[in-house]
Amino acid sequence: MMSGSGVQMDQDVAKAAGAIGLDALTREARRDLARLNFPAANWVLPVDGPDGRPVLDVLVVGGGMVGQTAGFALMRDGIRHIRIVDRAPRGGEGPWGTYARMLTLRSPKHVNGPDLGVASLTFRAWYEAQHGEAAFEALHKAGRLDWLAYLLWVRETVGIPVENGVAVTAIEPVGGLVRASLAGPAGAETVWARKVVMASGRDGSGAPRLPAYPSLPDRALAHGRVFHSMDDIDFQRFAGGSVAVLGGGASAFDNAGTALEAGATKVMMFLRRPMLPQINKSKWTGFPGFLNGFTALDDELRWRFYTYIFAEQVPPPYESVLRCEQHAGFTIRFDETWTDIEADTAGVTIVTPKGRHRFDAAILGTGFDVDLLQRPECASFRDDVLLWRDRVGTAKAAADPEPARFPYLGPGFELLPRDAAPAGIAHIHMFNWGVTMSHGALAGDVPGIAPGANRLAQALVRALFVEDAEPHWQRLLVHDDEELKPTGYFVAPEDR
Ligand SMILES: Cc1cc2nc3c(=O)[nH]c(=O)nc-3n(C[C@H](O)[C@H](O)[C@H](O)COP(=O)(O)OP(=O)(O)OC[C@H]3O[C@@H](n4cnc5c(N)ncnc54)[C@H](O)[C@@H]3O)c2cc1C
Repeated sequence: MMSGSGVQMDQDVAKAAGAIGLDALTREARRDLARLNFPAANWVLPVDGPDGRPVLDVLVVGGGMVGQTAGFALMRDGIRHIRIVDRAPRGGEGPWGTYARMLTLRSPKHVNGPDLGVASLTFRAWYEAQHGEAAFEALHKAGRLDWLAYLLWVRETVGIPVENGVAVTAIEPVGGLVRASLAGPAGAETVWARKVVMASGRDGSGAPRLPAYPSLPDRALAHGRVFHSMDDIDFQRFAGGSVAVLGGGASAFDNAGTALEAGATKVMMFLRRPMLPQINKSKWTGFPGFLNGFTALDDELRWRFYTYIFAEQVPPPYESVLRCEQHAGFTIRFDETWTDIEADTAGVTIVTPKGRHRFDAAILGTGFDVDLLQRPECASFRDDVLLWRDRVGTAKAAADPEPARFPYLGPGFELLPRDAAPAGIAHIHMFNWGVTMSHGALAGDVPGIAPGANRLAQALVRALFVEDAEPHWQRLLVHDDEELKPTGYFVAPEDR
């Protein structure tokens, strides 16, 4: 039998071997990028802003998985004068190291996206470099924190310049440009950009969904006992206690599981439905035909596809359910939603049409609302944005209010103006969950990221070129690269 120090030594050796393997992979990936001539030379013409300083070609708001992949695609296509800012500290972008509480990703371990097609930048390459091929073969799914470490490694290896700790507080289309207010460690700053990409995440086109209850009109009255699954929750405080969870989605189960593992003796989940959703319809969409073709469908078909997918709802991953099921203190009450929450200093009372239940705390696993109007940085233009409800008519919008609130985007994810609104908002490109009704899940879930980032980069390349067609024409006229100079057939300019 191996001693404790023997096990430790083995772990240290494995860690050192993993670090050496990852170093070698980093070199290989950089060689691959160099072979692909990455990053491409900048070709976008410089423009001065109203403040006399060069205008950014693109400002990317959010440096999570999607924002960094967008940056990668822009650098690949020679759009180099960009900034990618994220209000979170490095590693705190998005859910992975913060409010996500699942043990593994839902996606299969082979899923690609942040690599943009470079084999040495895939999750598989990253994992095998550290743990070997057999270990990847044996791996069930990517661990949540492994996925975060992998994303950060891609960012470092590629050299995607994410600035952390910088929040975008306001965005305003002005003339043909966009003015953005930034707040970071150096204080407040105003920057001008030709294009803005809103890669601001799952909540970036809305906010956590928080139902209002008669006794709890706002959470200030919750005595610190009612949480949304996205909150920073200290689960250790639930040891030996009881927790009520509303909802039956992935986050609801992962919060329930985390509470049980922290020692909660009773976790009761409440669902409005008579059973858990059984089929993940959105999983079906992850094939090239849908990912690339969906946006070309007419409004009626796009509306039909996604209102159906949303209405069917997504079952929780079976791993998350098993995680809860193995605890005797876990129960689910179907067909029973909450009509009120009464909170006091000693606990919460959950009121349902079927009775009253007492717990130490409650967690709302109620997901996110999509509503651009709620985002403060969008305040200056939110009333100008064309939404799906403007396209489908009031009856359909009333039947499916959430899909109706999604922005109706152009082919490059750009916002479109409603009625006589200023056209300048088309310089703002949504690249978050808000794209889904118009393009499918191309800026959120992993399988859609590469087609999404490619589509976005192509749209920005086209727009930045077309807007400068005249100056590019002038550049063509003065282009004088004399290729035949070394040969006997060269003719000097004055002799042509
Ligand atoms: C719990 C959970 C589990 C998931 N698991 C999976 C999975 O297994 N497979 C899958 O395919 N998908 C999964 N998803 C969906 C999706 O992959 C993730 O939501 C992913 O994080 C999306 O990446 P993102 O960059 O769009 O958003 P995020 O990762 O949320 O990044 C957005 C970033 O924008 C920043 N930001 C927002 N507003 C501003 C601002 N005004 N100024 C500056 N910065 C700003 C935020 O700080 C954040 O870091 C999961 C989502 C959640 C919530």
